[in-house]
Amino acid sequence: MRIGAHMSVSGGKFKAFERGLELGCESIQVFVRNVRGWSSGPLKQEEIEDFHKKKNELKDEIWPVISHNSYLINLASIDKEILEKSYNAMYDELIKVDQLGIEYENMHPGVIPVSDKKEISKNEALNEIAVQLNKLIDATKDSKVIILLETTAGQGKGLGNKFHHFKTIIDTIKNKNRIGVCFDTAHSFAAGYDFTTKSKYNKMWDEFDDTIGLAYLYAFHLNDTDKECGSRVDRHTHIGQGRIGKEAFEFFINDQRFKDIPGILETPKGKDMKDDIMNIKTLKSLRTK
Ligand SMILES: [Zn+2]
Ligand SMILES: [Zn+2]
Repeated sequence: MRIGAHMSVSGGKFKAFERGLELGCESIQVFVRNVRGWSSGPLKQEEIEDFHKKKNELKDEIWPVISHNSYLINLASIDKEILEKSYNAMYDELIKVDQLGIEYENMHPGVIPVSDKKEISKNEALNEIAVQLNKLIDATKDSKVIILLETTAGQGKGLGNKFHHFKTIIDTIKNKNRIGVCFDTAHSFAAGYDFTTKSKYNKMWDEFDDTIGLAYLYAFHLNDTDKECGSRVDRHTHIGQGRIGKEAFEFFINDQRFKDIPGILETPKGKDMKDDIMNIKTLKSLRTK
């Protein structure tokens, strides 16, 4: 696995590479726009060029690059205004990610909208997400950016806590070269997938392969969690300090099927980089191959 971490883009998006290099990241994840607001201006030409220059300079050290989308986006919304805002924000993300030459755009599948007027089923929500994604893929048809649907803890009405949710979406996507899955260890553990022993780990991947297909797996988020398996609570903690434990991360890190796949840390961190340094060191120490 290509070990990396989510990097800040403060002071310039290209700086994420410099920070990543300093920490020994083999891959990085970034935000390309304001993730807590709807509005975002276009990228400046200089910003795009600086990013490409740095990405190219470090092309052997740091690859691939993932962008994590805005937390506000919900492609399953039945509120017309929110759906339109979500679509436009996602379109904007895809354009920016393409301009920057980033390989993957990671998103949470969506949340079933709560409304007193209308109740929609899980399948209707999953279908709506696929409809919106098909439109987005069509609207950016010259782009090669792959949209990754992230596994979630299934908090509240969140979708993506079961492998079959991904199958339902992917089945409806017309251009299957542009869609994939990102497996978040803390989320899926909270969702009820136990992979803390080798046999449970193997069983889970058999289920993933049977349901979605391993060919659709493009990335990992490597996070430990304080919450128990099946709690459906999304809480990230340092590697080896939660209920997942180091041994389970060793299975992921050394799995040869995932040799060239990025594993990105999204563990808690302060202003300096020492938490990331610690977690990267822990993950690298688990390598036996
Ligand atoms: Zn996420
Ligand atoms: Zn994640």
